[in-house]
Amino acid sequence: MLREALLGVSRNASVKKLIIGFPPTRELVKAFVAGEASADAIGTTRGLQQTGRTVTIDHLGEDCTSVELADQAAQAYVDLLDQLRVAGLAEQAEVSVKLSAIGQDLADDGNARAVANARRICQAARDAGTAVTIDMEDHSKTDATLEAVSELRKDFGDLGVVLQSYLRRTEEDCRRLAEAGSRVRLVKGAYSESHDVAHTDRHEIDKAFVRCLKILIEGDGYPMIATHDRRLTAIAETLAIKAARKPGDLEFQMLYGIGVAEQERLLHKGHRVRVYLPYGSDWYGYLVRRLAERPANLFLLAGAVTHR
Ligand code: FAD
Repeated sequence: MLREALLGVSRNASVKKLIIGFPPTRELVKAFVAGEASADAIGTTRGLQQTGRTVTIDHLGEDCTSVELADQAAQAYVDLLDQLRVAGLAEQAEVSVKLSAIGQDLADDGNARAVANARRICQAARDAGTAVTIDMEDHSKTDATLEAVSELRKDFGDLGVVLQSYLRRTEEDCRRLAEAGSRVRLVKGAYSESHDVAHTDRHEIDKAFVRCLKILIEGDGYPMIATHDRRLTAIAETLAIKAARKPGDLEFQMLYGIGVAEQERLLHKGHRVRVYLPYGSDWYGYLVRRLAERPANLFLLAGAVTHR
């Protein structure tokens, strides 16, 4: 209930202005975001790499409103990838991209613009010696995003994609995408979706996650299991053993600032752990989704107020 309310009210422009302008919000942002500049992302990546983690970097931004902004966002990724190469971090760090940040929602064939920009980013990743994963957004974009990924995979076979267990369609998508070489990140899903298209009961979402896990782990692709839910990581470990997958045959992913002890536990067992690391100034949508997932995070905001 609170999750839906937070996701709903956050779209209101006045609420957005209020939250962004509220000084303690900045303290909270620091818990989940590397910083505003690419140098912050590079520095944090180096620190994470030194602890044995790999990273996927997200240049924050979504719902871009002009061709210029879409192209600028793509250029930011191209520049970042070159900086990763120069810093010698490209082997440990890939990038995560939202198609809406690089033009998908623009009129006059936004999809084509997003695919062209994604192609530039994939090429820059290849030149740097790393790869790209396309994030998944709300269900209205799922078909277009999967079509874009399928098109791009003709030239960039290592392109990763995200599937959300809360969508009713996802088991079928998992079956289709569990093929050799296919990198699939499985998440529960972070957007506000209706009962028609999505499971809305947490227990149903978790059960669907396990069914999807089973398909991906028993399949031929490379599963990227993205959850902080310890019951689900434990189930994934058991399924992986049953399917005779070795630690390097799949990876666990968690968001920067969340589930650190569980990351340590998995690293200790020899698993690959990748941290999703956002940076940039357009952090509002990302922050609201983190608050909606765990309303207790609002207490961090309250804490920042009382410590001022
Ligand atoms: P939950 O049941 O929500 O959480 C399990 C436990 O984890 C909680 O009890 C709590 O202890 C901890 N936890 C969870 N969230 C938080 C938080 N915000 N703050 C503090 N503790 C928390 N969603 C998309 O829709 N599209 C994407 O492309 C996408 N990419 C993602 C990439 C990665 C690497 C990860 C980890 C998540 C991604 N998500 C994405 C978000 C995902 O859909 C979930 O909203 C998010 O992971 C929370 O779900 P959970 O699986 O951790 O389970």
